[in-house]
Amino acid sequence: MNLARLLEGTARRIGDAPAITIGGDTWSYAELRARVHRLAGYMRARLPDAPGARVAIAMDNSPEYLLVMFAAWQAGFAIVPMNAKLHAREFAWIMENSGARMCFASPRIHAELKPETAHLEGLILIETAQGAIDKLDGKPIDVPVEVGIDDPAWLFYTSGTTGRPKGATLTNRNMLFMTNCYFADIDHLAGEDTLLHAAPMSHSSGLYALPHIARGSLNVIAQSASFSVDEVIEILGRHRNVTAFAAPTMIVRLLQSASALRDKASNIRTLLYGGGPMYVADLERALDTMGPRLLQLYGQGESPNTITCLSKPAHAQARAQGDVARYGSCGVARTGVEVRVVDPEGNDVKPGETGEVITRSDCVMRGYWNNPEATKTSIRDGWLWTGDLGAMDEQGYLTLKDRSKDLIISGGSNVYPREVEEVLLRHPGVAQAAVIGRPHAEWGEEVVAYVVAKPDAAVEQAALDKLCLDNIARYKRPREYVMVPDLPKNHYGKVLKTELRARSTGKDTPK
Ligand code: AMP
Repeated sequence: MNLARLLEGTARRIGDAPAITIGGDTWSYAELRARVHRLAGYMRARLPDAPGARVAIAMDNSPEYLLVMFAAWQAGFAIVPMNAKLHAREFAWIMENSGARMCFASPRIHAELKPETAHLEGLILIETAQGAIDKLDGKPIDVPVEVGIDDPAWLFYTSGTTGRPKGATLTNRNMLFMTNCYFADIDHLAGEDTLLHAAPMSHSSGLYALPHIARGSLNVIAQSASFSVDEVIEILGRHRNVTAFAAPTMIVRLLQSASALRDKASNIRTLLYGGGPMYVADLERALDTMGPRLLQLYGQGESPNTITCLSKPAHAQARAQGDVARYGSCGVARTGVEVRVVDPEGNDVKPGETGEVITRSDCVMRGYWNNPEATKTSIRDGWLWTGDLGAMDEQGYLTLKDRSKDLIISGGSNVYPREVEEVLLRHPGVAQAAVIGRPHAEWGEEVVAYVVAKPDAAVEQAALDKLCLDNIARYKRPREYVMVPDLPKNHYGKVLKTELRARSTGKDTPK
């Protein structure tokens, strides 16, 4: 089944219904479908010999985002959505790794991408300035191209311990499972809903366009390129039955305008959050401000948003009963999803004991794109090893303790320390570097670098900052550089990041 059929069915059923709106511009489902058909025709005409070709997306949130996604599927291609905040070099690397043949880029990104992708042979780079896509020619494709259920549909670029992003290959089966699971565990949508895209569409907000388009919701696209509290509150005042995805740090920012948020809360149907830890004190404030409208998701790119969830009623009940352990958990396994907590040998640990979370379902990726080694490490006997540490109680509620790897989540975006370390080590005066996350009230975590200079070398902090700005996305650069004579290490020579984390908060190393 081709995912484009989700849109086809809705457009046939309720073509006049509004599909997307931004500012004063609204597209009906029939209009969206017609544009998808035309753009699919353009893509197919340019890539006639490439079934399964990858179409990269380097775009800010926009109506065209959904257009490109569905057109690529309609034409039988897979999409490679990329976080719009990445550095031009990072975009270029992902395109090279995925072998993308075509890339749609917002005007701002297009200008930066041109020189960085010049070496990518055969890549068609398309600027998506308003109206530009409508001018592309091509014989419309009216019927979605036949694809296999296990063919790739979405390459979700995440990262591993190596620091280089890896493409979690999500198939049509994975995406359909995620979509159906939405109806099973989150909301049964009935065509009178609004999906607000205030978070990046390259991640959860875009993923959730699928169930919402399948049921004919209105997609409202916030105009600001980054999350704006005022805009979200203003949109909540204008629409009903609103669902939105937000990282916990975004919810904390929304709570800065608690009284305005409380006034608009009745227009919220479901506020979906996840992707990073939600601190209990923040959740209490959120529940007290918005009422029983929050739903927590736990997932990862390798099993998109679909491992466990803490439902709206579970939040409300736990809060009413003062059951902190329950609302501090990330809920129970999603319908049709197996979740276990195991020791390093794969044996179940006892209820309440901490181990690694593993999961098995039709949502689990096919593997990492062109990376069988990494796939073998992550998927063993059909089970995805998440790299997250957690504990499950007798009733199946999972509580995440920590990430086993040292992933930093800052402002809802992932920062992989090794990637930042590699950049710092390019400085001729730097001998060693270790990057960690330090708790931050607004951003969840902030990036801190510990740097050891070579003997007699002068390392200016400004030079380190410039190096990062020149090579990686702005949000990944350290907010502080701590110059140290050496890094703490264990007997195997591994840097002890736990000790650095403790140091960074002024606490002693936990024994
Ligand atoms: P990503 O692949 O970008 O979606 O990041 C996935 C990682 O985010 C997971 O492996 C977890 O470490 C973290 N994560 C996702 N959901 C939650 C949650 N509800 N609570 C805490 N951490 C989460």
